[in-house]
Amino acid sequence: MADQQERNSLKREIMPEGPSLVILKEAVQAFKGKKIISTVGNSKQFDIHKLDGQVITDFKSWGKHFLICFKKFTVRIHFMLFGSYRINEDKNTVPRLGLQFKQGQINFYACSVRFIEEDINEIYDWTADVMNPAWDPKKAKTKLRNKKDLLVCDALLDQDIFAGVGNIIKNEVLFRIKVHPGSMVSKLPPAKLNALIKEAVVYSFDFLKWKKEFVLKKHWLAHTKKICPRDNTPFDKKYLGKTKRRSFFCSKCQRLYT
Ligand SMILES: [Zn+2]
Repeated sequence: MADQQERNSLKREIMPEGPSLVILKEAVQAFKGKKIISTVGNSKQFDIHKLDGQVITDFKSWGKHFLICFKKFTVRIHFMLFGSYRINEDKNTVPRLGLQFKQGQINFYACSVRFIEEDINEIYDWTADVMNPAWDPKKAKTKLRNKKDLLVCDALLDQDIFAGVGNIIKNEVLFRIKVHPGSMVSKLPPAKLNALIKEAVVYSFDFLKWKKEFVLKKHWLAHTKKICPRDNTPFDKKYLGKTKRRSFFCSKCQRLYT
């Protein structure tokens, strides 16, 4: 059964990992090709009224970036850690950016909003986005091999390599492939390196499916958990690597490669 709390939180917080942006992209498809009648918002990063009267040509996402495309420019929304959005409703507070259409509205809160004049195909490497059809695992492997002192916990969060992967996906992927988050990428056997790259994508699509069904949290095996479901060993919770994000792992079944 769907978790009611999770159902509510779907609207409230974006949970800033790539699959959430894919869900948002699908949710706003009705506004593709529509003209913005007016804009509101307290974003100071550019004159948001530049968008008045403009027609949205497409919505794209790259990792944790949400892109609203227009004929001659793009608006980038980054939800950071606490960003949220509302479609056809508002939060009784001034949004960072609110788009009003003849029918309907989209409001973005607590996010970073940027105006991009450059060609986004020059800026974004679509092959690095784990959710994108252009995702290229061979390129990811080359990037990983070129970074010798990288820990696996930092590698998965590196947006140049795995755009869209966040802390939840990191913890779950490492649990699935039985690799300790403090392992060195360069010390992983070839099969484990391949599994790391493969599961980063597979888990991201599982995340997408479960989040759409409001059952994501009940599928977590490691993230925020206390006991390893494989061998009942208490999980370690440590802030590892350069990124210092929470790692939940089992030191019995997740092997440390150093
Ligand atoms: Zn275990």
